[in-house]
Amino acid sequence: MIAIVGGGVCGLSIGWYLARAGRNVTIFERGEAGRGATWAAAGLLAAQTEAEPGEEWLLPLMLESRAMWPAFARELEAASGMGVDLREEGVLAVALDRDEAERLAFLFDYHRSLGLDMEWCDGAEARALEPHLSPKTAAGVLSRRDRQVDNRKVAVALRDAFMAAGGMLCENTEVKEIVVAGRRVSGVRIGAREFPAECVILAAGAWSRGIKGLPEELRPAVRPVKGQMLSLKMSEAAPLIRHVIWGNGAYLVPRRDGTLLIGATVEEQQFDTQMTAGAVHELLRRAREALPGIDELPIAEMWAGLRPTSRDDAPLLGPSAVDGLVIATGHHRNGILLAPVTARAIADYVLTGRMPDSLAPFAPSRFAA
Ligand code: FAD
Repeated sequence: MIAIVGGGVCGLSIGWYLARAGRNVTIFERGEAGRGATWAAAGLLAAQTEAEPGEEWLLPLMLESRAMWPAFARELEAASGMGVDLREEGVLAVALDRDEAERLAFLFDYHRSLGLDMEWCDGAEARALEPHLSPKTAAGVLSRRDRQVDNRKVAVALRDAFMAAGGMLCENTEVKEIVVAGRRVSGVRIGAREFPAECVILAAGAWSRGIKGLPEELRPAVRPVKGQMLSLKMSEAAPLIRHVIWGNGAYLVPRRDGTLLIGATVEEQQFDTQMTAGAVHELLRRAREALPGIDELPIAEMWAGLRPTSRDDAPLLGPSAVDGLVIATGHHRNGILLAPVTARAIADYVLTGRMPDSLAPFAPSRFAA
């Protein structure tokens, strides 16, 4: 019996891979599956545009997972019978003044030095790609290989695919404790009852550290990092943009149904998920500077979520010092992007006892000292 703690994109995708391999898997989800950070995300699969100096060691994992997305989406759509809207127009990073253009040029050179396939555009070329961009647009960088997917549809599809493969989903069921006997996991405690399991996969996102039962040094070094976002409603037939627009301290993500996402703040506020006037104002101000046409659009929704963030911003993936306990959390701002590589690596580990060498840098033990 395999127990997975947490029904976000990580728990659901690992569960789906294991269930379709014929294993007996139960996911315990405190609320409704897919409604944590997975629901709050923007669905960017922007491995290139987001690559920052100092994160070179994480880049191969992000590129590998991005390359897996088309097949992952196809299989998920076939297994669930629903679309997840993987879009391939690419991401256009823009600069609205000369200072920003200098910074964009620096990042462009850095990305090119890593061998990433990016295209420089001047302001006119950027506006030819997206005519509603501000006339102030000074430069742009197009990353055709970066993608986006509708993360909420992914969550629903994963839930359906997991159950169709024979997985058991227990929603509104909080795991109070991971039960460890000696140095081996024996199950999870739900209320007063213990659910026996020879393998427990901890995928509880930003809450992973707070679950009782593990010695202090083995609790995953993950904290919540708050992100606020909002969405507007464009015309579905004549959307203002088709590429994801990245720049001026915000990103704009056009969905197929005309929804336009604007994100996202990055805040250290522990588990607070309230929306604040200042954040909404700032997101709208930045978005409007890049895309003045949003002025007339109705507001559709506002929300905040909690990224599960480790000390080095990279995920914790693989076995722990407790036999049978496997960790899959800490995906910070890339959990949707990294879902395919996470699901494959963790499911393979559970099935074969081996982690790929390429995932050694992400071993949970790297924080043990
Ligand atoms: P979650 O989705 O949070 O799932 C964890 C689940 O565990 C929750 O459903 C929770 O209820 C459950 N749980 C917690 N405790 C317990 C318990 N004791 N018992 C049972 N269940 C429990 N990533 C990208 O790749 N691209 C993006 O564009 C992007 N944008 C983002 C924008 C915002 C505003 C935010 C907040 C995040 C964004 N991310 C993005 C990051 C991404 O959302 C996360 O990395 C990813 O969703 C983490 O998935 P998860 O399954 O680990 O966590």
